[in-house]
Amino acid sequence: MFKRILIANRGEIAVRIVRACQEADIEAVAIYSDADRHALHVKKAGEAYNIGPDPVAGYLNAHRIVNLAVATGCDALHPGYGFLSENPELAHICARRGIKFIGPDARVIRSMGNKIEARICMQKAGVPVVPGSDANLASLAEALRLADTIGYPVMLKATSGGGGRGIRRCNDRAELERNYDRVLSEATKAFGSAEIFVEKCIDRPRHIEVQILADEHGNVVHLFERDCSIQRRHQKLIEIAPSPQLNDEQRARIGDYAVRAARAVGYQNAGTVEFLMDSDDNFHFMEMNTRLQVEHTVTESITGIDIVGEQIRIAEGLPLAFTQADIQRRGYAMEFRINAEDPKNDFLPSFGRITRYFAPGGPGVRTDAAIYTGYTIPPYYDSMCAKITVWALHWDELLRRATRALHDTGVYGVKTTIPYYLEVLQVESFRSRHFDTGFVEDHPQLVNYKTSRPARELAAVIAAAVAAHAGH
Ligand code: ADP
Ligand code: ADP
Ligand code: MG
Repeated sequence: MFKRILIANRGEIAVRIVRACQEADIEAVAIYSDADRHALHVKKAGEAYNIGPDPVAGYLNAHRIVNLAVATGCDALHPGYGFLSENPELAHICARRGIKFIGPDARVIRSMGNKIEARICMQKAGVPVVPGSDANLASLAEALRLADTIGYPVMLKATSGGGGRGIRRCNDRAELERNYDRVLSEATKAFGSAEIFVEKCIDRPRHIEVQILADEHGNVVHLFERDCSIQRRHQKLIEIAPSPQLNDEQRARIGDYAVRAARAVGYQNAGTVEFLMDSDDNFHFMEMNTRLQVEHTVTESITGIDIVGEQIRIAEGLPLAFTQADIQRRGYAMEFRINAEDPKNDFLPSFGRITRYFAPGGPGVRTDAAIYTGYTIPPYYDSMCAKITVWALHWDELLRRATRALHDTGVYGVKTTIPYYLEVLQVESFRSRHFDTGFVEDHPQLVNYKTSRPARELAAVIAAAVAAHAGH
């Protein structure tokens, strides 16, 4: 059994992993950059080591991090999400240095990190994939030829992409010609790889993903699905489990696909299989994330399973303590990513000092945060600073409770996405469970919620004053 785990991450996910360690009587060893000297994960962990002055470089230096794990007597390393979590080199170096990597092995990370390889693998396993190319594009001419056979609109995507970057929709030939070099350069800049491919653009899709757990003894289970259709620029904002848009037959089918996908690649530990559901309710495999996800909390809420705890137990070599039939779900859960952004100003990052912070409470409300009163959010990292996860037995009750929980939250000093979510909760299509990945773009008035209202009010005040003046 593990005695010490090095947490190769920061922010709320590092705090989440510290909590799992504490419950398992494992010592948590944190790392931090100079900018993160006052970060919450540093305060929560038993021990913390500075990994240098650069805000980001230290968190991306696999050799240095594993050296530190060895030097501090750790037996395992948890990568969290983002940073090196899907970097096969880190898993490989850990294996070589005798540090157990809490995740799948390097070979699986590498093959699923390549969206083309993943597509080919899933097709072989009988999992339906989004129609598209089965090799990287060699030229624009090839892209145009393929798009003609697939049919417009198409998506140009970075083969090693992630975090919603390196994805562009092309409605016709002209757009494909225009976007080709852009995606190529985005892919090169963001992922250090000029590999791109083309796939069919699914019209008004719903993003449905399945959480899976696989132990080192061949047992694979799924923990039902999450609906992550509420996105902005291909990045998730709100996630819901189970999807309120699926019936039980569809739920069983997508769960089976995910388990089949995990088995096909010899998957171990926690992972997520992402699908797009088209308007005819067909599922299409999109990609597999070989790590813990931001939104794992909603799945924990409906199943009662501690996913990070399970990751640790799986890495310790223990068999899963439950079978598929043992896994029950109850109610609905919804996660809100609290980003330090100004929703009325095109979601511009809003970094700075948190002058006051109150976490929400009450029944069915969970907070995973990296902030506290007096903390200054540094500008170098992701703007997500907290997550609020709300659970309720019934959908309507969840909507009411979520509204209450968001009102119950106090984050002062920076702008956040909370007012935006309060607006989303009022939208009829959301409340009646009919929404797709176009939701945010389809409701531009929500983004301008504040500028439009006071502006209208102000106009009315001025009009009244003018009328009164004219009356004199
Ligand atoms: P999830 O599906 O867990 O919500 P996201 O796509 O939101 O995952 O990614 C979680 C975090 O990891 C975000 O901060 C995102 O920017 C970052 N991230 C994801 N993939 C990559 C990648 N390939 N390279 C760099 N950062 C990434
Ligand atoms: P990442 O690795 O950045 O998470 P994904 O391949 O998971 O990229 O796609 C992210 C999001 O982009 C999806 O949730 C979806 O909203 C949109 N998307 C990706 N591929 C397609 C497609 N073929 N058709 C329609 N939307 C897509
Ligand atoms: Mg994805």
